[in-house]
Amino acid sequence: MNDPLAADVGAQILEQGGNAIDAAVAMAFAMNVVEPPASGIGGGGFMMVHLAHSGETLALDFREKAPAAAEVGMLAGGSFTEVSTSGISVGVPGAVLGLATALEAWGTFTLAETLDPAIVLAEVGVPVSEFVAENAASARTTLQPETRAIFRRPDGTPLQAGDILVQPDLARTLDLIAQEGPAAFYEGEIAEAIVDAQRRARYDGGEGRMTLDDLALYDVALRTPVIDDYRGFTVASMPSPSSGGLTMIQILKMLERFPAGNERRGFGFGETRTLHVMIEGMRLAFADRAVWMGDDDLVDVPAAGLLADPYVATRSAMISETTRMARPAAGEPLPFDGRVPAAPLADDHEEGSTTHFSVVDGWGNVVACTVTIEQLWGTGITVPGYGFLLNNELTDFNRQPAPAPGTNNVAPFKRPRSSISPTLLFKRGEPFAALGSPGGATIINSVLQVVMNLLDHRMTLQEAVDAPRISITSPAGEVTVEPGFPQTSLDGLAALGHPLTEGEIGAVNAVLIDLRSGKRYGAADGRRGGAVGEACRPRRGRGCAAAHE
Ligand code: GLU
Repeated sequence: MNDPLAADVGAQILEQGGNAIDAAVAMAFAMNVVEPPASGIGGGGFMMVHLAHSGETLALDFREKAPAAAEVGMLAGGSFTEVSTSGISVGVPGAVLGLATALEAWGTFTLAETLDPAIVLAEVGVPVSEFVAENAASARTTLQPETRAIFRRPDGTPLQAGDILVQPDLARTLDLIAQEGPAAFYEGEIAEAIVDAQRRARYDGGEGRMTLDDLALYDVALRTPVIDDYRGFTVASMPSPSSGGLTMIQILKMLERFPAGNERRGFGFGETRTLHVMIEGMRLAFADRAVWMGDDDLVDVPAAGLLADPYVATRSAMISETTRMARPAAGEPLPFDGRVPAAPLADDHEEGSTTHFSVVDGWGNVVACTVTIEQLWGTGITVPGYGFLLNNELTDFNRQPAPAPGTNNVAPFKRPRSSISPTLLFKRGEPFAALGSPGGATIINSVLQVVMNLLDHRMTLQEAVDAPRISITSPAGEVTVEPGFPQTSLDGLAALGHPLTEGEIGAVNAVLIDLRSGKRYGAADGRRGGAVGEACRPRRGRGCAAAHE
């Protein structure tokens, strides 16, 4: 779709004098309308914020939570498809309280003002985008009558690009929230409808366990970002319950000893050697992630140990420039974290999709925000009469309980481990880039590579986003490779024993501030029809918003 509606909502808010947080919140609501399969008020997300006036960098966690009645093993019953399309996988949604909290803490617009553009879009209708149309044939749009009624044509065939999607129920729901605030969502008629809807199940035992109390008790968390240095720059990203920041920064630190970007030494962009050490770094970090990362509110995540220089050095030392290592196990970060050992490997299933957007305003506030309902179309359950899809985020827990430490096993009130990685980059304390991506566990590798393209390979923002990517999200298995790398590099990787498969990886939307000129640039990812908002053409001191849409 050529009409960048959601990015332009952000740009308009900036034009009206709103700040980056106002724009981000308005864009998140607009995304629910223009890209309903990927995010919305039935889901959750994470936001990284840098505040110009105080110089603080903060992480807001509005990830979905397991209900009080959640139990280890409760997701083990059905197939992935059955579980992820049944109420049992619905986490208590965090988006409404998260966005309202961000606005109250750092915004200047009212909740109603940021909801207004989304309400208008839902009432008037939006043309179905290429991205939504490409995914409209999903069975998830047919499993429940309310979903079919909205997200299929009247004759039952999938929506096509350019069809007009009108969502009056969603408009009414957003209007209720605009009038009464987040309480309209977490208590009362909408909450009751959510609880009823998540009782739907596609297998015995698949009924959701959320109660009205779970909704009333839902809370968001302000967290300290994971922050570390990479080649003289500072990288700040999302902490637990996301694994994004820890995993990405661990890979960067493991790779720092290699001269990435140095063509004379065989480490130019896309060269076999560069790709090989990246793959090895990914395999090592994802082995750690499977065992050590989860919701730090309820389990111990050895975050300090995982990033401790001596620990990272021992892991990095396992990377040879000339051979592929045997399947790596998780490491032993506890001695570097002041904790007691324990370890085996957890099961790891992640696909799905989300929406990411990045915003910078004229004052220098910067936001990177990723919102999700997990799989495209979430559970496929639309809350009857209210027009929004419920997430299946609880499938991000280990479905089969993992042995100790079981960091990502299901537990009451726990947040499932995420890969979401909204990230900010700083030079001498000044923020100069914000980025993030959808794509399940591949989010981490997508963000990693755009960071490396900017910092190591000195690409422009759009080049860094467009460049082909690779990804492996487990210690063993295939490496996904995008088209565009030299055949000689791929032959080199194959010769080293890396099993390769073709695919598309992530969709990064980013903004960049040229610290010398003050110009702001937006880059949207052609992989998923992203767009850069109108106010974002390079101009000094103006805001900039980039989003999928
Ligand atoms: N549920 C995923 C996560 O939090 C995000 C969904 C996706 O983009 O696949 O890591």
